[in-house]
Amino acid sequence: MVELTKPRERGRMAEPDLLVSKAFIGGEWVGTVAAPIEVDDPFTQDVFAEVASVGREQTQAAVDAAERALPGWASKTATERGRVLRRWRDNLIEHKDDLAALITRENGKTFAEARGEVDYGAGYIEFYAEEAHRARGETIPPPAPGRRLVVEREPVGVCAAITPWNFPLALLARKVGPALAAGCTMVAKPSELTPLTALAFARLGEQAGVPKGVFSVVTGEARPIGDVLTASPVVRKLSFTGSTAVGAALAAACAPTVKRLSLELGGNAPLIVFDDADVDTAVETALVAKFRNGGQSCIAANRIYVQRGVLDRFVSAFAARIGAMTAGDGFDPASDIGPMIDDRTLLKVDRHREDALARGARCIVGGASPGGRLSIPTLLADAPADALFTREETFGPLAAVVAFSSVEEAIRLANDTPYGLAAYLCSSDPATIDRVSRRLETGTVGINTGAVATPLAPVGGVKLSGLGREGSAHGLAEYQNLKYLCHAGL
Ligand code: ADP
Repeated sequence: MVELTKPRERGRMAEPDLLVSKAFIGGEWVGTVAAPIEVDDPFTQDVFAEVASVGREQTQAAVDAAERALPGWASKTATERGRVLRRWRDNLIEHKDDLAALITRENGKTFAEARGEVDYGAGYIEFYAEEAHRARGETIPPPAPGRRLVVEREPVGVCAAITPWNFPLALLARKVGPALAAGCTMVAKPSELTPLTALAFARLGEQAGVPKGVFSVVTGEARPIGDVLTASPVVRKLSFTGSTAVGAALAAACAPTVKRLSLELGGNAPLIVFDDADVDTAVETALVAKFRNGGQSCIAANRIYVQRGVLDRFVSAFAARIGAMTAGDGFDPASDIGPMIDDRTLLKVDRHREDALARGARCIVGGASPGGRLSIPTLLADAPADALFTREETFGPLAAVVAFSSVEEAIRLANDTPYGLAAYLCSSDPATIDRVSRRLETGTVGINTGAVATPLAPVGGVKLSGLGREGSAHGLAEYQNLKYLCHAGL
């Protein structure tokens, strides 16, 4: 049995109304129509909430409501839409601690990280509240006299979002922000593991004045909800964050209705430390890139390649920091990382560690899981380049170091994967930085930093890591169609 930090304080909320157990469809709160979703607390493993499970009919009702709400929302000015988004952002910040308590309770991450996630997610709503104004069109010098060529941006229409459990607020906010700013309406399906954060997010949107039907949250079994959203001819775009296998299946299901797609899928990020790197900077980069959210992040550094000249210094400095980390209850301020989301995730970390050890890696610090869903921050050295963790996303607090000799070898190892979401490199030589960052086949490169996430920049993948970008003006364009108007006889 795991011991609770402060049983009576655990997850207590200032505004208990934010713990919502109903789905939000067309502006109405809808109760369950099937066996409810049981939401467990990853630390205690107790079910602490039951959330409505809705099916095909209710999902169709959400799509219908989004279709009805579309003309009114799309015809508002950018300023009006921006104002609603701004109020929503303010509500998120005002209720930061309650939202963070929900995130920690259903996801397990530390309360400090959960608060950071609310800031990060609210940042997307804030950015797109402002960016709505900047969705400018173009005029093109005409090919013949008497003509005027104009390009306008129009909202794509009704959109669907399917989101994962690892950043239950931020990954939803970065879809909702640009969709609503562009004048689209949206039906979102959060992960069954973390539906409560999405519902609280929706309630704060309702309170901010988001009109009925503009944003709905359907909670329940993934398959029937996904089937309705992907098959509907009314839904013109799907934005999905999750595994490559599910993303590819959803893309196939969207093909007959030729929907636009944004897919942020699996990653397998390399982190490369070159001989000339500043060791402290490299360790800081690796800590953030590896252990953010307990390693349960798509852009987590999954493979750490270190050049032989700096290997011993890096490993001992990294080990000292990892050894000082504590895995525990997310509500305990002494915890650096919380529990893993579920047993499957925990067992995968164990499998990757055992596989690397069986192939000759050395455990420098950490080791076997202590019980419950806790996974101890662990560092392995002398890992071989073909260990399982180099091929599959570990999604946990296992850092394993593979040694390399030359710059070319590092580039080859880094790109030796079908994935291409993020990469990190540490070097103090501008020529190495330039040469390597250009050759890395990823959508993002962190250079001497693991902290790359910001609403101001476009993130997304290449290869099997996905399509489209989220964040920045590029993220807004994903929710807009270009319309070319050709005026003649002027
Ligand atoms: P992860 O392994 O990170 O949980 P998944 O791809 O399994 O990633 O899940 C991401 C999201 O996709 C979740 O909201 C999940 O419920 C949803 N999902 C999984 N399978 C399907 C499906 N067949 N149709 C629609 N959504 C799905």
